[in-house]
Amino acid sequence: MRNEHDGTFAEIVREMDTAIERGYIVFQKFTCGGCGARQNMDVPNSLYTSGHCEECGHVTNLQQDGCGFKAVLATEPFYTKVLWKDEGENWGKVYFYRDDKILNDEAWMPKDQARRTAAQLHATFEEG
Ligand SMILES: [Zn+2]
Repeated sequence: MRNEHDGTFAEIVREMDTAIERGYIVFQKFTCGGCGARQNMDVPNSLYTSGHCEECGHVTNLQQDGCGFKAVLATEPFYTKVLWKDEGENWGKVYFYRDDKILNDEAWMPKDQARRTAAQLHATFEEG
């Protein structure tokens, strides 16, 4: 049950790789196999083989059903901010800002990944 907006998993893996090589930051997207809701992954430049729906709780097999992604172009002016969890700063939440508006869905990620992501991100959302 593949959504018309999605590609096959293999196609999307190739397209995400190409976009990253060109300096984009990518977020995987998918269509829930249970309720049909469009879902976005929170962690940049990450690929998931299954997706949990925040609307209905269904887990979709993305290798079987396919997926999509959105690309974020690296440009100025743009800034990011990392919020650290208190204990030992082991987890960070990276926010993308433009004109004081938060653009992304935040997700907690390990410290090193949060630092890398923040360093990488000077970006403007280009595509939905
Ligand atoms: Zn759902």
